[in-house]
Amino acid sequence: MCAAAPYNYNCRNHYRRLSSPAPREGLERKVVAALDLSASKGPIVVERAVVLERVGDLRAQLDAARAQGRTVGFVPTMGAFHDGHRSLMRAARARHDVVVVSLFVNPLQFGPAEDLDRYPKDLAGDVAGAAAEGVDIVFAPPVEEMYPGTDFSPDGAPPLTTVSVAGLTGGLCGSARPGHFDGVATVVAKLFGIVGPSTAYFGKKDAQQLAVVRRLVADLCLPVEIVGCPLVREADGMAMSSRNRNLSPAEREAATVIHRGLQTGADVVMAGERDAGKLRRVVANVLTTEPLVRLEYAEVVAADTLSPLEVLDGEVLVAVAARVGDVRLIDNMTVRVDGRGAVVDLGVNVAPTGEGGLCAAR
Ligand code: AMP
Repeated sequence: MCAAAPYNYNCRNHYRRLSSPAPREGLERKVVAALDLSASKGPIVVERAVVLERVGDLRAQLDAARAQGRTVGFVPTMGAFHDGHRSLMRAARARHDVVVVSLFVNPLQFGPAEDLDRYPKDLAGDVAGAAAEGVDIVFAPPVEEMYPGTDFSPDGAPPLTTVSVAGLTGGLCGSARPGHFDGVATVVAKLFGIVGPSTAYFGKKDAQQLAVVRRLVADLCLPVEIVGCPLVREADGMAMSSRNRNLSPAEREAATVIHRGLQTGADVVMAGERDAGKLRRVVANVLTTEPLVRLEYAEVVAADTLSPLEVLDGEVLVAVAARVGDVRLIDNMTVRVDGRGAVVDLGVNVAPTGEGGLCAAR
């Protein structure tokens, strides 16, 4: 069965596991060979994705591939794949000889009262889905492999070394999730050190995360190119998210107001509005019409520095966060404003007959 049937990609829907002891639940208990590097260079032809749980195993595979001049493209994820994740895998597959996807729900980026325990998990389905997209290696480390000697319990021993990107992380989602972006920056820096990719792919859905990762790479002089990929939406406009699985049908229906708020904001920008405060209020007012949705913030900021704006100018991020039941959702659009006009980017809509999310006017 090819899970990605709507798309015309090579369906390589089996996987191999190459690892040390005790595979976790959901993983096939089968230990098989490494990547086939017998061809001297170029893309590796694999029948099945290799699943690795150990840093040493992954390094050995990738060192061998790099020694042959192969490039490594990397997609970090927390799993429970949807088309947003798959779009990143396709972007990497199109450009690299070896594609690595990491699958790790990072405890360091969850606060004590957050949904770490409820975060959706589907290890076997994700591995099959990654293989169907032509991913060569799924890196799915257990927590102790990523954070040896660390105890994440409330009175435990946190990691001694963390990475913090000041300035970009206090506002937007950072206000409600203190420490979240330190957790993100730390795990991304560790994963870059483990994988050593030439390029890493991130979704624009998590716009603040993308800005933080770009800054992290620039400030630490990390030799990795960061590619931001379009935000992918459901047919009804809802931004795809693993957390959407935790919404009840009524909440899922109510949550479409988030996209409608942004769409209304896009309409007023296209009609000529350049006052950031007015744009912010227009978006917020739509979201507050839905009783099941509690707006956390609607902000209009510069896309790179995330500083609040008074007037729309240059690359602008319009970002929202809202709680629907117990589920926290985020969404955004970007607006490029110059003397000639505005271009609004709401992302892409996967519905075959739906409207595209990109609108432009000069
Ligand atoms: P996550 O598994 O939620 O940590 O996301 C892994 C990667 O997928 C991140 O770079 C996200 O920005 C990206 N991603 C998640 N949802 C979407 C989406 N709807 N569209 C595009 N990229 C996404």
